[in-house]
Amino acid sequence: MLIILLGPPGAGKGTQADRLVKKYNLVYIATGDILRAAVKSGSPLGQEAKAFMEKGQLVPDEVVVGIVSERLTAPDCRDGAILDGFPRTVAQAEALDQVLGEMGRKVDRVVYIAVDEDELITRLTGRRVCRECAATYHIKFNPPRVRNVCDQCGGELYQREDDSLSTVQERLLVYREQTTPLIDHYGREGLVSKVDGNREIEKIFSEISSILGAGSP
Ligand code: ADP
Ligand code: AMP
Repeated sequence: MLIILLGPPGAGKGTQADRLVKKYNLVYIATGDILRAAVKSGSPLGQEAKAFMEKGQLVPDEVVVGIVSERLTAPDCRDGAILDGFPRTVAQAEALDQVLGEMGRKVDRVVYIAVDEDELITRLTGRRVCRECAATYHIKFNPPRVRNVCDQCGGELYQREDDSLSTVQERLLVYREQTTPLIDHYGREGLVSKVDGNREIEKIFSEISSILGAGSP
């Protein structure tokens, strides 16, 4: 099962993916997480990506397509994966189709999580992320049991630099211009299931679960 989680920054893709990978036993591929790890390590990939990410702009297509293609061909992805934050442009979606086609595979479902813009700003500016395992929290909507400490691994929580108000606004603009065309792109293939993401985390999770089916994928 190959699932794409589509939606604006702050829609709750990572929050839902965390639950879905456990339920469906899928590999989680989040290009944002991979790029942040590369920036942290100072690798050539990280050095290339850093400036784009700080400004809230997209890293060039060929860079992210390379990352995802390599990851998808790894043996652990054979039984399925959830893609979060990729594809983000039509060119990336076309490249993904080609890579999957060469492997005799295809996208099974695109879950589009729609959230109102005001809510996205509140979510992103209040988001906290674990430095160790990248688990995501919100200071009001999904706080950790102990302030600034990850429930899952005890790591320290921090605020992403690109979750500042001005960068959030740029990211939402980039999303509208470059990523929303994917709703039609996949819609034409009948692959999109739209979910109202303005609700509680567990309600959204149960709707996505019923879209994907309860059984073993
Ligand atoms: P994305 O991966 O789409 O950028 P996240 O999963 O990181 O989004 O969620 C963004 C922020 O909103 C996080 O702080 C998260 O805890 C919070 N959040 C996620 N889903 C909901 C929800 N349904 N209601 C309220 N807050 C949410
Ligand atoms: P995210 O963690 O998904 O919010 O992504 C954080 C940042 O990483 C984005 O603002 C982009 O700079 C970069 N990024 C993540 N995924 C992609 C992608 N598919 N294409 C281009 N840039 C990406």
